[in-house]
Amino acid sequence: MDHRDTLIESIAREATSWRRELHQNPQTMYEETYAAGFVAARLTEWGIPHETGIGGTGVVATIEGQPTDGAPTIAFRADMDALDLTEETGLPWASKNPGKMHGCGHDGHTATVLALGRYLQQTKRFHGKVRLVFQPAEEGGRGAYRMVDEGLLSRFPFDEIYGFHNWPYLPKGEFSICSGFMLAASDSFELTLSGKGGHAAMPHVCTDVIVAGSHLVSAWQSLVSRSTDPQQAAVLSVTNFVAGTGAHNVLPRGASLSGTVRTYSPQLRDMMERRMAEMAHATASMFGMEASFTYHRITDPVWNHQDNVAYASQVVEKLFGSQRLKPFVPVMGGEDFGHFLEKRPGCFIALGQAEPDPASPHSQGVHTTRYDFNDEIIPMAVAYFAELAETRLAAR
Ligand SMILES: [Zn+2]
Ligand SMILES: [Zn+2]
Repeated sequence: MDHRDTLIESIAREATSWRRELHQNPQTMYEETYAAGFVAARLTEWGIPHETGIGGTGVVATIEGQPTDGAPTIAFRADMDALDLTEETGLPWASKNPGKMHGCGHDGHTATVLALGRYLQQTKRFHGKVRLVFQPAEEGGRGAYRMVDEGLLSRFPFDEIYGFHNWPYLPKGEFSICSGFMLAASDSFELTLSGKGGHAAMPHVCTDVIVAGSHLVSAWQSLVSRSTDPQQAAVLSVTNFVAGTGAHNVLPRGASLSGTVRTYSPQLRDMMERRMAEMAHATASMFGMEASFTYHRITDPVWNHQDNVAYASQVVEKLFGSQRLKPFVPVMGGEDFGHFLEKRPGCFIALGQAEPDPASPHSQGVHTTRYDFNDEIIPMAVAYFAELAETRLAAR
């Protein structure tokens, strides 16, 4: 172990206690005042200049390295928000906020980037500048978009950006990377059907929103199976279908349906939006009722830049050996980190955190009640980011 590894290990041990404190105090979508306050307090303590309130609760810090003419600036991003989920881990650091939980490991991402800041400020073995971007509202709140809208790129310019997500679907310590599409565009939709309710034994004088809605759910599925090129990926999931009063003998007047659509290709995304609306209105008219349909584009896909992926892969091989570097198989999950990558080159990676024991909280899927971030991956992620800062900035 060289000096750097020893220093990173000791900072990471401290970061474990920060992570657990953040875990105990989860907040969601633009309410992350605890995490933002915690981050700002540590940065102040270490003398790292930073600004708060960027995109709601976002925090951006800047660390100056060795002054070098024309040296670029590199950014590292952590998300800070939790989920509306009731934790069932029973761990000593379990959530103290009822109904809120760090069920996606953003507590770990925040602690990691904070640890990176501590290391870089202490060592300054890099050229140019490093920015640390602590982002709110990744979970469906478009926090990355809001930070960019509020001037992130003009107020705190950077040339490249990197981030990671803990990945309980891979063994602890495996770095999984791919070029191009990694995660999908994530959209949502809502539909209301309005008909004429009435006595369930006299359907001929009513219009049945449940029958119409059921036809539509089936018809929409054909957009994936019949209207999508089989070589491309699309998901359409109806996740809510609400109708009825609970009575056995009343046909309800209205039904509401909602769900999610995932795609990579922009053309396919356009097609899904257009055809879903057409089918909703056509089905409503076929059954003699009204439909109101809305489609929301939430986040764009995560598309990794080839040159940055190649460099990041070299870094992993150098630090951990080629056996720890795995190709990432794209999934249809969404991440608003994709918006940063639309603005600047960079790459997002998945870092495995599963333990051999399938019952371990580190082996549970994200967004489940028994999941917990694995603190043992903090030093690995810090070393990866630190090496990027120290060599990428000098190499360019
Ligand atoms: Zn999540
Ligand atoms: Zn997440």
